[in-house]
Amino acid sequence: LKAMLAKFKDQPTVTADGHHLELVANIGTPNDIEGIINNGGEGVGLYRTEFLYMDASVAPSEEEQYQAYKAVLEGMAGKPVVVRTLDIGGDKKLPYLPLPHEENPFLGYRALRMCIGDFKDIFNTQLRALLRASVHGNLKIMFPMVTILPEFRAAKEMLLEQKAALLAEGIAVSEDIEVGMMMEVPASAILADQFAKEADFFSIGTNDLIGYTMAADRMNQKVSYLYQPYNPSILRVVKGIIDASHAEGKWTGMCGEMAGDLTAIPLLVGLGLDEFSMSASSILPARELMSRLSKAEMEKVAEQALQMGTAEEVVELVNNALK
Ligand code: PEP
Ligand code: MG
Repeated sequence: LKAMLAKFKDQPTVTADGHHLELVANIGTPNDIEGIINNGGEGVGLYRTEFLYMDASVAPSEEEQYQAYKAVLEGMAGKPVVVRTLDIGGDKKLPYLPLPHEENPFLGYRALRMCIGDFKDIFNTQLRALLRASVHGNLKIMFPMVTILPEFRAAKEMLLEQKAALLAEGIAVSEDIEVGMMMEVPASAILADQFAKEADFFSIGTNDLIGYTMAADRMNQKVSYLYQPYNPSILRVVKGIIDASHAEGKWTGMCGEMAGDLTAIPLLVGLGLDEFSMSASSILPARELMSRLSKAEMEKVAEQALQMGTAEEVVELVNNALK
C-alpha cells in the first residue's frame, strides 16, 4: 500500500476525467514543512499562526514572526502558502493575554473580533511581519472567524495601512498577495455572494462551521451525534460558498478535517471544491482516491446528496458510488 501511494508523491492531483485539484497541507510551525515535502503536498492551505503565540511567554516580536513566515515561504519555494492571522479565544488561550471568563467562549470574543478590536497592536505587528515576509514566496493572507463584511473590510484596511507604512519606510512588499477569509460562521457562508466580491478566496473551516451550523459541540458526548459532516444541510452550505466564489471568478478551499475525509472527498469534488488542505499524512491517500474519481460522475452524486434528508443516506450513496 505504501509503495502504491508513493507513486503519487510527485504527481499532480488530477481526477480520472482530467480535472485538476490542489492538494495542500495544514501546518502549525515551520518544522511541519518537511512533512509536506515528503508527502508531495502542493503548498500550505492553512498555517495556524496561533502556535507562535501559544508556545511563548510573551507575544512574539515582529522579527521572530518574520523569520517564521519567511522560513515557511522559502521552504515551499514559490508554492502557495495561506497564512491565517491570529485565531485565539474560544478554546485557545494565551498566558500573557488575560481574557475575561466567557459563558460561551465559542460565541465570544475571539480571533478577528479581538484583532480589529482591543488587540490592534498585536494584529498590526503580525500584519507587518507577514508583509515583510511576502517577498520570499507566494503568500496569501487569510482572516479567521469573519462574520460580517465590515469586519473583513476593517482587517483589510489595517493590512493596507501597514503596507503603506512599510513602503514609506522603503521596505519591499509583494504586490500579488491574495487576501481571503475563512468560511466558518454560518452568517458569512449564507452571504458568501457578497463576501466573494471583496475576498480573493475562501477557505471553508468545517471544524467550526459544522459545529455552528448544527449547534452542537462535538466534545460533548451527549450531542456529538449531531456533528454531521455528511448532513445535506452542511453540503448545501458548502455548495453555496463554492458557487458564490466561482460566480466572482474566485476560488474556494477547505481546511477543516472534512477536506481529508475519504468519504467526503467524492462529494467535495462533485461540489467543485478547488483546494483541499489537510494533515500531510492524508495527502497521498487523497490524491490516490481523486485519481480514481470522475468529476462529472461526482457532480451527479453530489446533486443527489443535496436532495437527501439524512447523513446516513448520503454515506450510503457515496459508498455505492465508490464500489
Ligand atoms: C476550522 O474551523 O475548520 C479550522 C480549520 O480552524 P480551527 O480548526 O483552527 O478552528
Ligand atoms: Mg476554526
